[in-house]
Amino acid sequence: PLRVRYAPSPTGHLHIGGARTALFDYLLARRHGGAFVVRFEDTDQTRHKESGIEDQLNGLRWLGLEWDESVDIGGPYGPYRQMERLDIYQTYLDQLVQSGHAYHCYCSEADLEQERAEQEARGEMGGYSGKCRNLTPDQIAAYQAEGRKASIRFRVPEDRIIGFEDKVREHVEFESNGIGDFIIARTDGIPTYNFAVIVDDHLMKINLVIRGEEHLSNTPRQILMYEALGLPVPDFAHLALILNPDRKKMSKRDESIIQFIEQYKELGYLPEAVVNFIALLGWSPGGEEEMFTKEELIAQFDLDRVSKSPAVFDMDKLNWMNNAYLKKAPLSRVVELSVPHLQKAGYIQGDLDAASQEWVTALVGLNQERMRFAAEIVELSSIFFKEELVIDEEASAVLKEEHVPVVLASFLTQVEQAEAFTVEAIPALLKQVQKDTGFKGKQLFMSIRSALTGQVHGPDLNVSLYLLGKEKVASRLRNLL
Ligand code: GLU
Repeated sequence: PLRVRYAPSPTGHLHIGGARTALFDYLLARRHGGAFVVRFEDTDQTRHKESGIEDQLNGLRWLGLEWDESVDIGGPYGPYRQMERLDIYQTYLDQLVQSGHAYHCYCSEADLEQERAEQEARGEMGGYSGKCRNLTPDQIAAYQAEGRKASIRFRVPEDRIIGFEDKVREHVEFESNGIGDFIIARTDGIPTYNFAVIVDDHLMKINLVIRGEEHLSNTPRQILMYEALGLPVPDFAHLALILNPDRKKMSKRDESIIQFIEQYKELGYLPEAVVNFIALLGWSPGGEEEMFTKEELIAQFDLDRVSKSPAVFDMDKLNWMNNAYLKKAPLSRVVELSVPHLQKAGYIQGDLDAASQEWVTALVGLNQERMRFAAEIVELSSIFFKEELVIDEEASAVLKEEHVPVVLASFLTQVEQAEAFTVEAIPALLKQVQKDTGFKGKQLFMSIRSALTGQVHGPDLNVSLYLLGKEKVASRLRNLL
């Protein structure tokens, strides 16, 4: 059976790139009845962030990517966090050293720095020189007497071509000569990513490794280690980069796009829209259709249709898509997403009583078609909350028309006398104004809309008036008159 894994370093929140890897893993595992493993690669303690594991899991949870094995639920091949697997790595490290595929290196940071500088001065671009490759017992004894600690390096064979058939990139080849002996365990004995990853993928029976293209150059290193240990090599699928809208490599500092799943959650996006959007970052089903439920993605997703060329992150498309999902969502759900934003803006307070609940539901209902994400409710509904009314140019022009004072005065009388000021009751008030003044249609509605919303166009007038409420409507009319 297929076994895939998402293996983040827990350095922070779930990033859009990691989310795509995890989604592709998940879709394939579900499609083929396989297992989706989430493993944490935390051996680089300098990049470690304590909340990183929870942050990553929360992101996956919100997207609805349930995993089959990980730190929280365990599984047959745990532990699923590398720092809890150190003794496991030790066995394999010993094996590589004993077989001569790895050796102890006593070079200090300063030695290596000097080596790099010398290489640069000669115009060379190489990896480690191999200075400690063949130390004599005397040299080793001398280093140890100095109190130096050894790291362990993998001995990269010379003149080898390392090729593999990538599931996305097809045939890929590297020359071993360009690689240079690399560190597989630091002086404190803790393994590096490149080594821990192969031990784990092997022991966790991972048979397909899906990850970002930035790891492509690690793959020949990993293949050499599988071979040195006599282990089978899994399949690989390297996903092309995700580019910014300006087609530059995505940088974590770029603010023109939202990069972390947590932010989408906070802004009131729908997870099913985000999943749909991410699925299309590099994959296409080959038709015109772009809207897919998770179930549809599971049924259709295949690496064959994952593109070798970079995907461009189009924020407008994501917003368009999220709007499409919001329009179809039950109003109660959109209300639930919107309320925290109205609270944060100070527009509503505390628990809502039935009347406020009804009011908020009408407010969100009025904007459901227009919202791209729930946080936008604040801006879209500000005319109902702000004390002073801003009247735009078009509306000012309307308000200068001759019939306007008559219409507004008549409406004010109706409002003051009204017993109920509900969406259902308001049309009768307007009807009465028409009867009393003789103005109807545009002359009637445009005047009232301009006077009360400051704009000539806008959402449903009855609902807008109800949302403003009797007090605000009356006081705005009085001010104008
Ligand atoms: N820990 C690596 C990362 O976060 C995972 C690479 C891999 O999937 O092999 O980039």
